[in-house]
Amino acid sequence: MDWVFWVIVAGIVAATAVAYVAVRFGRRVQQVEPGAEPAALADATPDVSVADGEAEKPVATTTADEAASQAVAELDTPEAPAARLTRLRRRLAGSQNNLARALGDLLSVDKIDDDTWDDFEATLIASDLGVGPTNELVESLRKALAVGGVSDSASARRVLRSELIKIVGPEMDRELTLDHAPQLPAVVMMVGVNGTGKTTTVGKLGRMLVAQDKTVLFGAADTFRAAAAEQLTTWGERVGVNTVRSEEGADPASVAFNAVEQGITEGVDVVLVDTAGRLHTKVGLMDELGKVKRVIEKKAPVGEVLLVIDATTGQNGLTQARIFSEVVNITGVVLTKLDGSAKGGIVVQVQRELGVPVKFIGLGEGPDDLAPFDAEQFVDGLLGD
Ligand code: GDP
Repeated sequence: MDWVFWVIVAGIVAATAVAYVAVRFGRRVQQVEPGAEPAALADATPDVSVADGEAEKPVATTTADEAASQAVAELDTPEAPAARLTRLRRRLAGSQNNLARALGDLLSVDKIDDDTWDDFEATLIASDLGVGPTNELVESLRKALAVGGVSDSASARRVLRSELIKIVGPEMDRELTLDHAPQLPAVVMMVGVNGTGKTTTVGKLGRMLVAQDKTVLFGAADTFRAAAAEQLTTWGERVGVNTVRSEEGADPASVAFNAVEQGITEGVDVVLVDTAGRLHTKVGLMDELGKVKRVIEKKAPVGEVLLVIDATTGQNGLTQARIFSEVVNITGVVLTKLDGSAKGGIVVQVQRELGVPVKFIGLGEGPDDLAPFDAEQFVDGLLGD
C-alpha cells in the first residue's frame, strides 16, 4: 500500500503549490495602483495586467492640434466695437448725472430768468465742461431758445442736444491710426499717469482689435510697477494675445524695442506698448517717454500715442495732459472712469487743451467696457436719453 501513501503525499504537495501561486498572484493584483503609468503596469505579472485590461488601454495624449483647438475654445469672444457705446452710454446717465437733472430744472420753470441760467451754468462747470465752453453753450442756447421761440421742453432738449454735440466736435477724426508699412506692424503707445487705467486700457484695446480680426502683440514696458506685466499678460491670454515682458526694473525702452521686433518677426498687425506712469518729475518723464519712442522707431514708426486720463480727476487730469503733451506728441486721448463720474464735460476741455480728439472712453471695469467715442451717442448718454 506504499503507492497509496505516495499518491496522497503528491496530491498534498500539488494542492499547496496551487494555493501558493494563487495567493502570490492575488497580491500582485492589489499592488498595481489604479491609474498607474504603463511602466508600473509592465512590472506586474503580464497575465494580471491583461486580466484587468489596464496595460492595453492607450495612454491619454493630446495632439498639438487638439491642444490648440482646446485653447481656442477657452478664449473670450470680445464684443464688437460698434455695439459698445449703445450698451454703455446708460452709464453716463447714472444717479450723479447733474446735467440731465439741471436741464430738467431749467425746462420745468415757468419763466427762465437770470438765476435759472446761473444755476444751469454752475452745473455745466461742475461737470468739468470748463468756463469757456460753458459760456459758449449757454450763450448759444439762450439765443436758440429766444429765436426759435421754443416753448415746450422736448424742443428745448433738442436744441441743447444739438448745441452740446457741436461743442463736443462731431467732425473730429477719431479713428485709431493703424496704417503701417508692409512687413511692419502699426505701433500704438499708451501713456499716462499711474492709476489712470493705462494697463487696463491696453488690455481692453487689445480685445477690441481682436474683435476686428487684427493680430495683436502687447509690450509690457511699464517695468516700474511689479504687477503691470502680469496684469497685461492675463489680459492677453484671455484673447490669445502674447505679451513681451522682462523682469521688474528692466529698461522700458528695451522691452518696447523687443516687443516691436517680435511683432515684426511674428507679422502681427498691431503692437500695443504699455509705458510707465510713475514718474514724478517732468524731466524724468521727458527722458523716459522720449527714449521709449525713439528706440521703438529704430524698428517701426509709432502711429499713435494715446494719453490715458482718469475723468474723475478733473483739473489734475488736465494738468497731466498738458505735461504729457509737452514731452510726447499725443495723437489721441482715452478718458477712463466716465461711468457715473458726472464729469463728462472734461471731453470738451481736454480736446481744446490738447487739440486732439478723445478716441475712446472707459465706462467700467469689465473687459469690454471701453468704447470708441462718438459725439452723438455720448451726448445722448449725458442727457439720459
Ligand atoms: P495704470 O496704473 O494706469 O496702468 O492703471 P490700471 O490699468 O492698473 O487701472 C487702475 C484701476 O482703474 C483698476 O482698478 C481698473 O480696473 C480701474 N479702471 C480702469 N478703467 C476704468 C473705467 O473705465 N472705469 C472704472 N470704473 N474703473 C476703471
